[in-house]
Parts: sequence; C-alpha cells; structure tokens
Amino acid sequence: MFLTRGSQGSLVKVLQEKLSQLGYSVGAVDGVFGPMTESAVLKFQQEKGLDADGVVGNQTWGALFGESIPDLIPTLNEPPLEQFCFDVFGDFRVAGWQEQNLARCDLSLYGNALQHIYFGWLTPADKAFVHSNWFGFLCHRLVVPKFRIAFENVVKRGLSGQLKTFDGCFDSRLKRGGNSWSAHSWGIAIDINAKWNAFGQSHYEMTRELAQCFKDAGFIWGGDWSYPDAMHFQYCQTR
Ligand SMILES: [Zn+2]
Repeated sequence: MFLTRGSQGSLVKVLQEKLSQLGYSVGAVDGVFGPMTESAVLKFQQEKGLDADGVVGNQTWGALFGESIPDLIPTLNEPPLEQFCFDVFGDFRVAGWQEQNLARCDLSLYGNALQHIYFGWLTPADKAFVHSNWFGFLCHRLVVPKFRIAFENVVKRGLSGQLKTFDGCFDSRLKRGGNSWSAHSWGIAIDINAKWNAFGQSHYEMTRELAQCFKDAGFIWGGDWSYPDAMHFQYCQTR
C-alpha cells in the first residue's frame, strides 16, 4: 500500500472519504491525491504521532482503517484492476512481502462446525489424519476479517455441512489460461469444494446459499462469471 501526491483512483477516494469523515479538509472527494489531500494526511499523521511525510503507507492506512480494509468491492470497477490489487495488497514478488502481509485466519472459534473439513489436495485416505485440524488458513492480513465474516455466515446459517474441502488460498501464480496474476497471489482468494466445482464447468455443486455467505462478506464469486469457477471466491474484482 502506497499512496502519495499524484496517486489517483478509487483507493484515493476511499482515503479522502475517510479523512473527510474524521474532519480533515481534503477539498473535493475526487480520487486525485493533490495538495489538499496531502496536507490532510500530514495533519492526521502529526496528530496521531506517526511519521509525518504526507505519504500513506501501511502504517498510516492502518491508523485510519485499523487492521481491515473498507468495503472496496463497489469501488473496484475501474481499470487497471490488477494494478489496484498491487496498490492495495502490495507486491507479492518482493522479498519480505509474505512476512509483512500474510496472517492466519483463525477459525477455531467455529471449530465444532468446521472440524469435518479436510484439505482438498490430500487424498481421501489422508482424510482421517487431517480432518479435525482445519481451523484456519494463511491469507492476506487485510482480508482476515472478511474471511471470518464469510465463515461466520456459513456457520450461523447452518450451512457448514456443505463445506467439504479447503483447496487453497495464498498461492502466487498466474491465472489459469491467462497471463495476469490470480487473486490467490495476494492471499485474497479461496477455493472450496474444488472436486465438485471444477474450473470452467457450468454444472457445479456449490449452492447459491453457500456462495451468498461469501458474497455477503464482500467477496466476488467465480460462479457468477461467464466462464464459471464455482469453487472460487475473491476479495477483488480482477478476472
Ligand atoms: Zn481460486
């Protein structure tokens, strides 16, 4: 995350809206990081005892929004979307990125409801060995609260029985059949019940109700795409 004078786009707008809500004058909320936005950032940084450099990095962003990100999905419809993910979630190709950005989404609170889930990449024979150990996974720290809400929805709506396998979250790789980065690269996507919801298949098992648990938490569902990826949920708009 790195916003500075000259930055433009929906993330700057989110920043300006937040500063403005907090009483800092940013001028027009126009998505352009100009001198007024910069002086608002400086003022905020000074008042919070942060390094006052007028640049919004992880520290300042964290002071503004806490350990989460605002609901970005509705604002994420302007290209270039992949660049947006790099701006918000950082560059996973840089050394040290994993240590700084990945965190465990701990779901042990829902252990009773989720303990039957097993890892999809293991064979059924391994199921007995791991099935009771699935209480969380590694993902981008900013999206931990969103994943938690999604699983809370699943449990509270009595749908946890529909969850069978966890098939991965963080995995830096190109999209299947594409030359751009998969949302998995940032740890902001999750695959569930992969065996029964294969990539590209329009006949899949994922129910609307289960998908809605993730959609209500702000995720985009791959099952809604014209070339469906029903196992897949991601916290960004890229495709
Ligand atoms: Zn996926």
